[in-house]
Amino acid sequence: MILNEGKPVAKSVCVIAEFQRGGFRSSTFEVASEGRKIADGLGCELCAIALGAGVAERAPELGRFGVDRVFVTDEPFLEHYLAEVYVPVIADVLGRIEPAAILLPASADGKDLGASLAGRLREGLAQDCTEIVCDASGLKARRPVFGGGCDAWCKWAPGAIPIITCRPNTMDCSGPDMHRSAETIRIGVEKPRPRSEVLSVQLEGSGGVELTEASIIVSGGRGMQGAENFAMLEELAGELGAAVGASRAAVEANWRPYADQVGQTGKIVSPALYIAVGISGSIQHFAGMGSSKCIVAVNNNPEAPILGKADYAVLEDLFEFIPLLTEEVRKIRSGIA
Ligand SMILES: Cc1cc2nc3c(=O)[nH]c(=O)nc-3n(C[C@H](O)[C@H](O)[C@H](O)COP(=O)(O)OP(=O)(O)OC[C@H]3O[C@@H](n4cnc5c(N)ncnc54)[C@H](O)[C@@H]3O)c2cc1C
Repeated sequence: MILNEGKPVAKSVCVIAEFQRGGFRSSTFEVASEGRKIADGLGCELCAIALGAGVAERAPELGRFGVDRVFVTDEPFLEHYLAEVYVPVIADVLGRIEPAAILLPASADGKDLGASLAGRLREGLAQDCTEIVCDASGLKARRPVFGGGCDAWCKWAPGAIPIITCRPNTMDCSGPDMHRSAETIRIGVEKPRPRSEVLSVQLEGSGGVELTEASIIVSGGRGMQGAENFAMLEELAGELGAAVGASRAAVEANWRPYADQVGQTGKIVSPALYIAVGISGSIQHFAGMGSSKCIVAVNNNPEAPILGKADYAVLEDLFEFIPLLTEEVRKIRSGIA
């Protein structure tokens, strides 16, 4: 299919990989899988651009998710994301590819990079998309707006290059015939002289599991009554392999760091399972977790809005219910139940 009228036939769908602390983030694999489906729809190849320190040896992993070619720049100064360093390198590679579309994870770095690239290339950006459709009229991307109350479909003019950031956990990583033996192409760059430098990156909150990529999240709100009671949620999260999140009320009370906040002014998450404990379900909180596949709410107030929005509503005192639930999960995991 020819996307660009009057321009050369676009040759590739391009994924910008996110490489951190020695590995690709799982959202990169999701985006690559989505890119594979689009590339198949357009009848073109899928390439990836991977920047980082030590990324070269991991680059072939992207082949498992449908990538045909990986353009790799592996330099110590690329260890941490910095727009003024990453954007010129990526823009240079994109200039060689003639991309049909550019896809990135909608992580904090991905959204920043997407916006910077859109400005640099003067192309249109759709942030935090949950679905991409490829048909005879080109690409369309769906993005939740107004706190998740509506969906907007974004479309690009003929000849434009869609730049799309994809919300983690919303796109399917599996698909038939994904596997490719990705060819690695090394791209050398001169060390830039940026005006700023990232000295170190410190991970906060979420109990070691990245909130936006977690497939299970246990979140606590004002009903937790104090920072110390979050130990109960951490224990449950530990059994489930989950991340711990929080409502803004819990964050504002200094019970949890801001990095844990879910909602309109916090993180947007889409886990397979979201357990809301002592959270009323304000529209601002719902804006951050409403696209979760399954919502379980634990609340002792039958009038709490979250109970009406949840797939499973547990009308119980959380201080009685959570320890029982943790115990049951523990039994199931150890094969006793
Ligand atoms: C511009 C703006 C942006 C905002 N952004 C965000 C955001 O990003 N994220 C966010 O979360 N909020 C956000 N808010 C705040 C939001 O409006 C709510 O105030 C907040 O979400 C309430 O948090 P909560 O549900 O923990 O507290 P509450 O609304 O006080 O709810 C506590 C719940 O705990 C239950 N409970 C109490 N004790 C128990 C018990 N023992 N057992 C079981 N249940 C119990 C209660 O029944 C109640 O439903 C924003 C607000 C504004 C104006």
